[in-house]
Amino acid sequence: MGCDAASSEEETLPVCDDEGKCDGTGTATDPFKGLGDIETREWDFIVVGSGAGGGPIAANLARQGHSVLLLEAGKETGGKTEYQVPVLHPTATETPDLAFWYFVDHFTGGNRGDSKATPEGILYPRGGTLGGSTAVNAMITVAPKNSDWNNIATLTGDATWSATNMKQYFDRVSKWLSVERPQIGAEVLFDDSIMAILTATFKEAADRGLAGPSVRLDNPAANLFVMFGFLTRDINEALMAGFAEGVYQFPLATKNHKRNGTREYLIQTARDARRFPLRIKTQALVTKVVFADAPDAMGKWRATGVEFLDGANLYAADLNADNAAAAPRTIRVKAKREVILAAGVFNTPQLLMLSGIGEKAQLQQHGIPVKVDVPGVGKNLQDRYEVGVVTELDDDFSSVRRCTFAADQTDPCFRDWQDGKGVYTSNGGVASILMKSDPSKTEADLHIFALPGVFKGYYPGYSTDANADKHHLTWVILKGHTENKGGTVKLKSADPRARPAINFHYFDDGDVDQGQDTNDLTAVVNGVEFVRKIAARTDEVDHFTRHTEVWPGPATNTRAKVADWVKKEAWGHHASCSAKIGATTDPDAVLDSKFRVRGTTGLRVVDASVFPSIPGTFIVLPIYMISEKATDTILESLGETRKNQKFPQ
Ligand SMILES: Cc1cc2nc3c(=O)[nH]c(=O)nc-3n(C[C@H](O)[C@H](O)[C@H](O)COP(=O)(O)OP(=O)(O)OC[C@H]3O[C@@H](n4cnc5c(N)ncnc54)[C@H](O)[C@@H]3O)c2cc1C
Repeated sequence: MGCDAASSEEETLPVCDDEGKCDGTGTATDPFKGLGDIETREWDFIVVGSGAGGGPIAANLARQGHSVLLLEAGKETGGKTEYQVPVLHPTATETPDLAFWYFVDHFTGGNRGDSKATPEGILYPRGGTLGGSTAVNAMITVAPKNSDWNNIATLTGDATWSATNMKQYFDRVSKWLSVERPQIGAEVLFDDSIMAILTATFKEAADRGLAGPSVRLDNPAANLFVMFGFLTRDINEALMAGFAEGVYQFPLATKNHKRNGTREYLIQTARDARRFPLRIKTQALVTKVVFADAPDAMGKWRATGVEFLDGANLYAADLNADNAAAAPRTIRVKAKREVILAAGVFNTPQLLMLSGIGEKAQLQQHGIPVKVDVPGVGKNLQDRYEVGVVTELDDDFSSVRRCTFAADQTDPCFRDWQDGKGVYTSNGGVASILMKSDPSKTEADLHIFALPGVFKGYYPGYSTDANADKHHLTWVILKGHTENKGGTVKLKSADPRARPAINFHYFDDGDVDQGQDTNDLTAVVNGVEFVRKIAARTDEVDHFTRHTEVWPGPATNTRAKVADWVKKEAWGHHASCSAKIGATTDPDAVLDSKFRVRGTTGLRVVDASVFPSIPGTFIVLPIYMISEKATDTILESLGETRKNQKFPQ
């Protein structure tokens, strides 16, 4: 049922407006929390999690006429300001009712002096709301490499994963997701520091052999049009055409410069309840998959539904987690056809294990009856390695001088954003460079970008520190195609409200047998050297203010010292691959190429967990694409093809 449809509890709730705002005021009213009749019905499909994986498939199946129950642990918050304004994405990750906080380890036995570490571990924010992590992410929407898809096709022998075939899913995502470039106004064009950084970036990129305009160091203003002309090339077109190294502006998932994602797609679908039988139930923490009493003749367990706890703030990762909440009601819901797990890279393996699917010894250790011994559940966890090189400028960026970041009517930059212009239409990224960490690489594996502000990774309060002043710049170096696959998600207990134990086993603590640790580390160190060259170039640019590197700082002046710093301070936020698709011969494969969980029927996984190897340099678009692919896979199994739908423009 959509938020404009009627159950006795929901009747009094306001109708969603065109922005997908359901209360018209941006407060935390949640029109989807009511139970209505969901217990008494049987649903064609039950989808767990409303993020990048779960959102599109739930909406798509409902648009096909199937009854879908979407269960989401978080709330719908009515489009809070922190959700909508692109520049506020770091704040969104620290906003109750939007974010879930996990604490992870990078190494066995601790975090080796990482400056971000807390006694609980290193903060790893995710979205815990309608829209999942698409509600708090940085909105960068970049396609993977063709090789990412082709590798899955080769691995599984399933040609439908070929890049040529996957291209159609990019087109499908484009039907419901709006992607824009931030608005570039006079305040950016006349910001000498930004012009100098861009000029130096293009110059260094050209020296590196990347295609680009020739720029003048002595007169950055003269480069203005040629640089911006070049920045607006479409990185996704280039990636899908198979050549993409270069300097780009990031495409952002915004509509009229407001964040959009699965939340809007779901609300727009649920609102048309007469045509599209999608029921969204928020504040529903799924605790396990329910199976038939006995395996079928093939020895497979059939998923028949799920159980969930009904209530707000029940999960320990919730910023308002209410551990004392008096025993919430457990509710069982039934699926006629399938259960689709899309609870994200940490929660999907947790749910599988809580349901008796996982490594036998681990399940037994927690007293969970074993249904299927699938040792790969929670293994193969991967992430990018990222580091931030921070520079202090002697003067403020003029483009943000008048911004207060209060994000209310007292903030002139917020008022600009309300008019669809200004720096708040951006996620902060000035320019991005997609490049090879070494010329011998076959493909670009580094994505490097500049952000005004301080960003050293995630720790409680990081979003406040990021904008504490207006004269810092961070160069983020992101290593794509990480070779280390050694991370793990394990149960800490059989309590579904507890977070799992997450350890990424970085560098020498992870895969080392084929030099993976050294390869990853060398690539990141090369990235640090590259941004230092850009910084040195800015000295040659006329009108640029003086600047000093403050993190890691001038004392970190040899490759060995940089490598030590990278190992200690790196972070990631594209965790994936914890329930991987694999060949039938791979004992660690959790899923087949059709997203089906081994040893079961009627159970699939469709989220960041499914990748055998972390794709591309940004992950949300690949997840949207697999969600579209999974939709077709399911429809094909029912002998259906997609109906020609009209999508909201
Ligand atoms: C701070 C940050 C910035 C990012 N920036 C970018 C970016 O700019 N570009 C990019 O490509 N990627 C980015 N990402 C990554 C990307 O957004 C995520 O990888 C992607 O959204 C993951 O999709 P998913 O469906 O696997 O999980 P999610 O989107 O996290 O969705 C999982 C959902 O399941 C719900 N859930 C979990 N457990 C349960 C349960 N037991 N019962 C019911 N519901 C449950 C959660 O509340 C959540 O809503 C970013 C991520 C973060 C955290």
